[in-house]
Amino acid sequence: MKLLLKNCHILATENGAFRYLENAYLGINNDTIDYIGTEKPVGYDQEKDMSGRMLAPGLINCHGHTPMTLLRGVGSDLPLQEWLFDKIMPIEDNLTPEDIKIGNQLALLEMISTGTTSYSDMYFEPQTAVENAIACGIKANISRPVQCFDPNETYAQNFRAKQAIELFKGYNGAANGRVLIDCSIHAEYTCQPHIVEAFSADCKALGTRMHIHLSETKKEHEECIQKYGKTPAQWFNDLGTFENPTFAAHCVWVTEEDMDILKAKGVSVAHNPTSNMKLGSGFAPVQHMLDKGINVTIGTDGTASNNNLNMFEELHLCSVIHNGYHNDPTIMKAADCLKMATANGAKLQGRPDTGALEVGKKADIIAIDLNRPHLFPNLDPLALLCYSAQGSDVVMTMVDGQILYENGEFKTLDQEKILHDAAQVVNRLLG
Ligand SMILES: [Zn+2]
Repeated sequence: MKLLLKNCHILATENGAFRYLENAYLGINNDTIDYIGTEKPVGYDQEKDMSGRMLAPGLINCHGHTPMTLLRGVGSDLPLQEWLFDKIMPIEDNLTPEDIKIGNQLALLEMISTGTTSYSDMYFEPQTAVENAIACGIKANISRPVQCFDPNETYAQNFRAKQAIELFKGYNGAANGRVLIDCSIHAEYTCQPHIVEAFSADCKALGTRMHIHLSETKKEHEECIQKYGKTPAQWFNDLGTFENPTFAAHCVWVTEEDMDILKAKGVSVAHNPTSNMKLGSGFAPVQHMLDKGINVTIGTDGTASNNNLNMFEELHLCSVIHNGYHNDPTIMKAADCLKMATANGAKLQGRPDTGALEVGKKADIIAIDLNRPHLFPNLDPLALLCYSAQGSDVVMTMVDGQILYENGEFKTLDQEKILHDAAQVVNRLLG
């Protein structure tokens, strides 16, 4: 099927730079963009009027724990370690696979309606997220995190590593490549080194990506140095983890030497501005990492530390907080932030055919309704998206040419049922 989106404004990409076209046309051949321009092309089966809309690349959320939507608001105002070990983990122990599936569906509603077309996730019972992604049409990089608290546990005894590898073998590339399976080591402070070393080697043999948390808090970073005489980045590097294409969430406390390792090993970074500020973790050296040539992206983290999955909010915070922290309004550029939330995310996820509106790329497209008071006048579209637009301004979300959400209506998810099911779970767990 060939679909022509007409009369729209388009935030396209040309030679790696954004280019804005007014009153233009975007053609889609099945799942791929085959035309962008101001002249009306011929040969399309269907036309869709997009007057007053800005088309932009779908946003890519590079770090989260989607089923934690069910724990939104739990343990607010606590330090990370107390929040995680005393509040969150005891509730997580009571989650059934069905609960986790519903939590993920709740997250999908929120992400799709606020312009996310692809996300990277780390959680247990990951087959639930895989099934949901296959059914609803979103793109997802799913991983099952490996943890190990017992130094006497052998690698063969670690059931999490086995589950992670089985998941990769069973589902990597499912749904025509919409579902990719990554491997994951939760963090240095939740894993034993012999498990990290063995799992990293297994993942290398499989050829997977690796999703980790890295130097999120000062406590994590400094306790690692006390325990092992090295930073978490050095620890992972020495254990062979970075021999895999790796992406690391947070990287708030990374040192200059750590950043050199990340650059040398091609490790991408998922920056989570809200989570880092809410949990008082600090300010990641984002511009410095970008200047060093590290691929930095944006993520929301889980809703229990955010407390939403709205990538427009992350985009906004990413574009302003570093200027404030450094007393310098020139630190973060809107174009850099938008690239972090789109093209850089595509690179992190191993999806080179996404992350930009360009002929030949997949049709992962969002439409912003420009007929809103806070979006007028549109003198600088990049600034408009970074500083003014809200997740609720998204009126269409399309993945691989399929519309998943339009004008408040979900095409592939039953919002009423999901909200009802989620309420039942929350009543049982927390009521
Ligand atoms: Zn996280």
